[in-house]
Amino acid sequence: MTKIVLFKEGDEANINPILLKRKIIHVDMDAFFASVEALDNPSLKGKPFVVGGKATERGIIATANYKAREYGIKSAMPTARALTLCPNLIIVKPRHDRYVDISKKLSLILTEFSPILEKPSLDEAYLDVTGNYHHDNASKVAIKIINSIKNKLNLTCSAGTAPNKLLAKIASDFTKPNGLTVILPKAVRNFMQYLPLTKIPGVGKVTAKKLAFINAHKCGDIWKLPIEDLSKTLGKYGVSLHSLAQGLDESSVKKSRIRKSYGLERTFRQDLITSEDKEKSLQVIKDKLIIMIDKYNIKAHTLSLKVRYKNFQTITRSVTQIEVINSTNLTKLINKLWQSRIDHNRSVRLLGLTLSNLRIIKNNDHNKNLTLF
Ligand SMILES: [Mg+2]
Repeated sequence: MTKIVLFKEGDEANINPILLKRKIIHVDMDAFFASVEALDNPSLKGKPFVVGGKATERGIIATANYKAREYGIKSAMPTARALTLCPNLIIVKPRHDRYVDISKKLSLILTEFSPILEKPSLDEAYLDVTGNYHHDNASKVAIKIINSIKNKLNLTCSAGTAPNKLLAKIASDFTKPNGLTVILPKAVRNFMQYLPLTKIPGVGKVTAKKLAFINAHKCGDIWKLPIEDLSKTLGKYGVSLHSLAQGLDESSVKKSRIRKSYGLERTFRQDLITSEDKEKSLQVIKDKLIIMIDKYNIKAHTLSLKVRYKNFQTITRSVTQIEVINSTNLTKLINKLWQSRIDHNRSVRLLGLTLSNLRIIKNNDHNKNLTLF
């Protein structure tokens, strides 16, 4: 049975008109890679297992099933560490083609409910159901979607129904797994007030620390702050955060963007001086990139390493190979660039890794748009 949580209490007279423009559903598959593996191999059911790389290859976890999560195991954790938390943990090798296959079936199911569909990754989607032809209210559509996915794919998902993408995404995460969370426009303020700021996409550990410094922990704490204080602390993002913390977001559901590269970079509060510190930081970025490779099914052929030295001189070094870059050969490529192409005597203030030269297929139409598969 799908668990349903409804947020409906609030002041009808004080609704921000922005919140009356759209009805959005965010659908997020539950522990997607792990659920697909359990579907194909029922002997895994009920046992703690993860999909990810081997501990002996410094692998990391893409997805943990819910049983494994009871041990504190989560995605992006090194497999070696997960094994110390749960010694009889089963490690399953990722099968991306299978996940892509099911994700395509998921898209077909979802388009039955709305043609306005955005799929940021294999296991999640936004649907704009503002003018949907069912003339149903959005939460009824969401229940139909959940049931249809269950019947056709034999997998569970969680969904959020709300007046915009931001709230729908937060909502789908609110009652997981197999849950539906509905936020009505009039309930938005009450819902947001006590929500931890870390629930807002874009507020990571570093931002949360900065916000804690000005005594902002919950979304409601932001409301009272002057925007100037927020932009002093967070720059441009401070202005956006002021709206986001009120549950306001005007972005529309768009056909998924066509990306040409995927990258991550980090600026360090203090320059990195020792090789040990530099390599440790690079390892952290690499682990995150591996998660991205899995989540977005990236098939890239070029890896670039970006280094900004203490004096702000920035260099980018790249390597291209015929073979697709994956979690195993990524390490070798990074080491190759790191060992031969970087001046190790200099202090470093920024490190970044980018994957590009993505495997692409051409669209049928004659424009130059390229589609990722
Ligand atoms: Mg998911």
